[in-house]
Amino acid sequence: MSDDIPFNKRLDLEPGRVDEVFPGVRRLLANNPSPFTFKGTLSYIIGKGQVAIVDPGPDDAAHVAALLAAVRGETVRHIFITHTHRDHSPAAARVKAATGAKTFAQGPHRPARPLNIGEAQRLDASADQDFVPDVTLADGEVVAGPGFTIEAVATPGHTANHMAYAFKEANILFAGDHVMGWSTSIVAPPDGAMSDYMASLEKLARRAEPLYLPGHGDVVKDAQNFVQHYIRHRLGREESILHRLAKGEADIPTLVRAIYIGLDPRLTGAAGLSVLAHLEDLVARGIVATEGAASIAGRYRLAAAPRAGA
Ligand SMILES: [Zn+2]
Repeated sequence: MSDDIPFNKRLDLEPGRVDEVFPGVRRLLANNPSPFTFKGTLSYIIGKGQVAIVDPGPDDAAHVAALLAAVRGETVRHIFITHTHRDHSPAAARVKAATGAKTFAQGPHRPARPLNIGEAQRLDASADQDFVPDVTLADGEVVAGPGFTIEAVATPGHTANHMAYAFKEANILFAGDHVMGWSTSIVAPPDGAMSDYMASLEKLARRAEPLYLPGHGDVVKDAQNFVQHYIRHRLGREESILHRLAKGEADIPTLVRAIYIGLDPRLTGAAGLSVLAHLEDLVARGIVATEGAASIAGRYRLAAAPRAGA
């Protein structure tokens, strides 16, 4: 079903090798490949001489060393963080210590909603709970540096604190994990929320940047068209869930088997959480019903249509 999205599964980049991806923007790949991170996390360096870094990456000594080597002789004043997952923000501490730069982000890590029983541990596994930005940014806030103007674009959904960053002079968007060229983004409760995620896609659809530089994977060209594909993909997945529930009540593993054909077994857990994200949204909209709060262990059915006059 994801075949309709024009993914680019290539990334011609070696970890640790600096690559000028766009005039005035360098990128550096961390060596943390996985089914969730593709070839690894991309850190970006904006400008020359006096520079800003977007997403210093995982707490990996080799990556931090490569990043610092890339900016040797330059001054780093700003570190922008798209979100507080462990593959994006933890290296900020070491880069900040080495350069004296300030960190900018929407805020510390927080779940998108209160936790259900048993969710705390999973949250710990992916989240960087230690990161606290020096400067918190609100949606639309602008940070001006030497040769660059960065607008914070709040894009909650993948995480509650996800920020994309628009580089005004270049008319490009650092999209973090909200929109990526190689794959759909994971929206996994309680970190993520589908209603927020869809609203953030609609928000990007109203913007004009034609080029996105994502946290994983190559440059997203024709970004507006790509965002529309993302939106249609999610609506299609919602339709598949409703189609399966129309045949009768189901739990999440049953829905995953019905919807994801040929899924990498390592991604079964993530697929379950993605379905949960859709179900949370559908329950909130009164389209699907379950007992109590929507949870990974719950059973789901179509909500009874309200009787006329009731
Ligand atoms: Zn990531």
